[in-house]
Amino acid sequence: MTAGDIERLIQLLARLPGLGPRSARRAALKMIQKPETLMLPLATAIQRAAENIRACSVCGNLDVSDPCAICRDPGRDAGAICVVEEVGDLWAIERSGAFKGLYHVVGGTLSALDGRGPAQLNIAGLIERVQSGAAGTPGAAGTPGTIGTPGTAGTPGTAGTPRTGKPSEVILALSTTVDGQTTAHYIAERLAGTGVAVTRLAQGVPMGGELDYLDDGTLSTALKARRPA
Ligand SMILES: [Zn+2]
Repeated sequence: MTAGDIERLIQLLARLPGLGPRSARRAALKMIQKPETLMLPLATAIQRAAENIRACSVCGNLDVSDPCAICRDPGRDAGAICVVEEVGDLWAIERSGAFKGLYHVVGGTLSALDGRGPAQLNIAGLIERVQSGAAGTPGAAGTPGTIGTPGTAGTPGTAGTPRTGKPSEVILALSTTVDGQTTAHYIAERLAGTGVAVTRLAQGVPMGGELDYLDDGTLSTALKARRPA
């Protein structure tokens, strides 16, 4: 290993989120000091991940199989699809354990500033999933009676195949930024007329939160979304 190799290692590490040049130097030094227990296992893990992990062709999740484990899981409710921006958001919801449906990763938000339009995001794939689930039941889409009827969708899938069936609900779990909300609005409009119920995450006062510490946006949204006590 030459000084150039070490510098290259530090530069690559510094590109990782959360690691500046200083943290990258510390991480590189730790690895160099522990080649057998840290550096080589890490190199192997990175190599294996690079070779085996792929994006699920159904939902966009990252996994070693396509369709991913979530899409193939017969225990998941195919009647609900949760739309997220990135795989990291999917991981966050999975960690919460609060959702047992399926996901759709759109890959970011619409952004006029960054030149990201609908074609750059996997929104068409979502529309297709919602519509193709209706195959075999022509005319069902758009029927008012199907909106919000849970439990009608979701034929239990067999292991190895993605879950099929028309979802009854699409949950938009996008950022509360302007771009995130623009994206949510766009997706909701595209889904209008498909017969699927489109919902979004409630926003408001966090559990144990004190009003004094909330930002104005959160407080005003919580006030607008108030419900009977
Ligand atoms: Zn998947």
